[in-house]
Amino acid sequence: ETILDVQNVKKHFKAGKHQTIKSVDGISFDIRKGETLGLVGESGSGKTTLGRTLVGIYEATEGKVIFDGRDLSKLDRKSKKMVNREIQMIFQDPQASLNPRMKVGDIIAEGLDAYRLKKGSARKQRIIELLEKVGLSPEHADRFPHEFSGGQRQRIGIARALAVEPSFIVADEPISALDVSIQAQVVNLLADLQQEFGLTYLFIAHDLAMVNHISDRIGVMYLGQMMELAASDELFAEPLHPYTKALLSAIPASEPSLRGAKERILLGGDPPSPIEPPSGCPFRTRCPAAMEVCAKQKPQWKEIKNEHYTACHLYG
Ligand code: SF4
Repeated sequence: ETILDVQNVKKHFKAGKHQTIKSVDGISFDIRKGETLGLVGESGSGKTTLGRTLVGIYEATEGKVIFDGRDLSKLDRKSKKMVNREIQMIFQDPQASLNPRMKVGDIIAEGLDAYRLKKGSARKQRIIELLEKVGLSPEHADRFPHEFSGGQRQRIGIARALAVEPSFIVADEPISALDVSIQAQVVNLLADLQQEFGLTYLFIAHDLAMVNHISDRIGVMYLGQMMELAASDELFAEPLHPYTKALLSAIPASEPSLRGAKERILLGGDPPSPIEPPSGCPFRTRCPAAMEVCAKQKPQWKEIKNEHYTACHLYG
């Protein structure tokens, strides 16, 4: 059952008088209730902009976002506020996303207050419940964010997102600012909370090995476009797109079961600017398999095998 239907979504930003940054440039996919969809790509690939567009922080320049049957662009203010309650975000940098002057209890209750959900002792009780759900203690409610470690701050961010009982959470690189030793704990917490509350996640990360642990399906983005989307096991076992193959080949040899190619595929150069993306296929300037047609025609987004999508001229 689809919870989020993303239809040809674009998010462009004006840069100066005549330039346009095409951060997200025509992406379509769906997310199913209760699943975790991992979204990977190098920095600048547009994954954070896409996540922010899906939670309503940015308005899509073009295309549609349908959440639980409701077109987000067509909602009046009141309905939009109700939908915003159902869609929450966990941010990459817990340090920057928590107000340093607010006590943790009040941070967690931000959503409760905004939606006037609980007051007085019920509010206090809910804060305690949320702190315990994320592995913190009731006495932490009266402390300030700087008194906590990075992992604990991310737990506070998770409790804040959970407070209003969302059904869908966009987690934007929720562990990349944390020590490696803490990362698994936060991933496990997110997985436990998903089970308990039937949550759906879009889990954004920059490396494939990291999302593999938590994702049912994985989408790979490059220069504002989706290159490939498949079930996690399928993507690791049989990657189709040259960019996915290169990302998989970069997984350390210490994780042989996750490596998608025996030989490391080194990509030359940096991704091109989203202000002037290449003609045809956005990956063609770095693709080891590029052909003449790749400069002339943009490859179509196609289902190549059962539920395995890619956009590449090598396939049909
Ligand atoms: Fe490479 Fe061409 Fe496929 Fe793009 S369309 S990934 S350039 S082979």
